[in-house]
Amino acid sequence: MTMGIRVLSPEIASQIAAGEVVERPASVVKELVENSLDAHARNIFIETEDGGCRKISVADDGDGIDPAEIGLAVERHATSKLAALGDLDSLRTLGFRGEALASIAAVARLTLTSRARAQPHGMRLTAEDGRVEAPTPIGAPQGTVVTVEDLFFNVPARRKFLKTQTAERRQIDSLVSRYALAYPEVRFRLSQEGRETLAGNGNGNRREVLAAVFGLDAAERMIDLSAALIEGPVHVSGYVSPVDLSRSNRKDILLFINGRSIADPALTTAVVQAYHTLLMVGRFPFGAIFVEMAPDELDVNVHPAKAEVRFREPSAVFSALQRAVRQALKASPTVSGVRAWEEIARPGQTMSRILPPEPGWMLDHEPGIPAQDAAASIPQTSPIGGAERIPLLRAVGQIGAAYLVAEGPDGLYLIDQHAAHERVLFEAMRREQPGMHISQRLLSPEVVELSTAQASALEGQLDLLAQIGFDVEPFGGSAFRMRAIPQVLGALKPEDALLAAVEDFEEDETPLAAEAEARLIARVCKRAAVKAGQTLGPEEQTALIRALEQCSSPRTCPHGRPTMIHLPMDLLARRFGRK
Ligand code: ADP
Ligand code: MG
Repeated sequence: MTMGIRVLSPEIASQIAAGEVVERPASVVKELVENSLDAHARNIFIETEDGGCRKISVADDGDGIDPAEIGLAVERHATSKLAALGDLDSLRTLGFRGEALASIAAVARLTLTSRARAQPHGMRLTAEDGRVEAPTPIGAPQGTVVTVEDLFFNVPARRKFLKTQTAERRQIDSLVSRYALAYPEVRFRLSQEGRETLAGNGNGNRREVLAAVFGLDAAERMIDLSAALIEGPVHVSGYVSPVDLSRSNRKDILLFINGRSIADPALTTAVVQAYHTLLMVGRFPFGAIFVEMAPDELDVNVHPAKAEVRFREPSAVFSALQRAVRQALKASPTVSGVRAWEEIARPGQTMSRILPPEPGWMLDHEPGIPAQDAAASIPQTSPIGGAERIPLLRAVGQIGAAYLVAEGPDGLYLIDQHAAHERVLFEAMRREQPGMHISQRLLSPEVVELSTAQASALEGQLDLLAQIGFDVEPFGGSAFRMRAIPQVLGALKPEDALLAAVEDFEEDETPLAAEAEARLIARVCKRAAVKAGQTLGPEEQTALIRALEQCSSPRTCPHGRPTMIHLPMDLLARRFGRK
């Protein structure tokens, strides 16, 4: 059965179009707040009920709307911000599509009240289900109030997809705080279910807003990017986390381009990569980063919700961002005030310098902290001190087939055998000249069949593989023929050695050339290192400890995890009540 082709009724067409702009309550808040900002508001007050589903109201003290034009404001493609297509190249406003108010009116009950500067009174207009009532004069303070009620009352399908009210509230919270960060000179207030959840003071001090978003402690310690002065057409400012604070995901890396909050996975990666080796694997930085550039360098008209942008030169933006963050990190004093960064960020050494402290070291050097509490409150990662070599150790034994126990002049060392061996192999491979890695030829060439995903991951790395000592070439389909493997992998089956190169290769990794080799080597060493569960004889224990003593960064594995825990004699004495 066919329905035949028909033109959609204007109501349905506008509901469909509205769906692209208004996805959920937070999108309504976003559009209304952007309108207030475009109208030069100094105060913006946002109120919601039931996570914005029942009611959203945004009041501002901005320019207001001319009484003769208020009806136009809710018409689709009616805007005061854009006259010609070319104007997009010089766009300085957040809005320009002229469809937000019309879209909202198509899927909710909308009331718009506005009094323009120098007008004796205001005007009010209501719209519902796409029908606009004639505006009426009304007394009102200067500025605009938009009230949106019963969102999606006429679009049951969309209503079903809304998350819980708590989730919607959280979205709105984080959205408004992003705008408060981007416009610290505007006083934002947000009240949800009658409770004030955000109250800025609009005094222009961004660090104060940071506290509301990331917490007071983090905000005080975040690193100011303006310390890194980078010349060029792309200007980067804002704040990022110090290396001893981190998050378990990338969600708190907030990016703004020309005052617009955007989501951009590539730029987020640029920030994450600036912390490469400075954070433990699986930990991510956070921050609020503001990028400014000439409007004609980017296209904001990619999506109706304007949450994405395209750059004329994406790589220039990527590298400006990464350089700014790197340099600011480099210039920032570490937790203890020690400037360890110069060494940390030296190219080629990036893998080897960063170090989560082990408790003993901190206790040794921070006598101010009471011993018992200090062990519990030590941050997860910190660059201080970790690059220190370790003293000569005496192997005492192995426990749990996973840890070595050793004695040093300054106390007891517990060593993670796998992490330690990874470090040893890693430094051994990196000591070899670049491109001169020692290979071990296979007795006869071996053909290895990989999955398509593995094959494509490997394909992109063939040059690098050759550099570190593999001799491998495509052999049709997802098969590869191997003639040699790096010597450190000699104990592995050739197939496992090759798999080590593609395992854990994150799809979104686009490391800088200098880092790609280090990452590959780290992956390979992880596979080649002894595992937990392998019993090591006394000679093997001693050999591993001797090799670790030779390392320049013995205290962490190449992925940044600690290789050892040090319990100083002092601590032992205190714990046993001898002091
Ligand atoms: P856009 O922001 O893309 O122009 P909107 O539908 O969001 O489209 O708004 C339409 C027009 O209504 C704007 O161009 C502006 O002239 C006016 N307007 C909307 N909200 C406000 C406000 N808070 N203060 C002043 N003018 C507003
Ligand atoms: Mg708008």
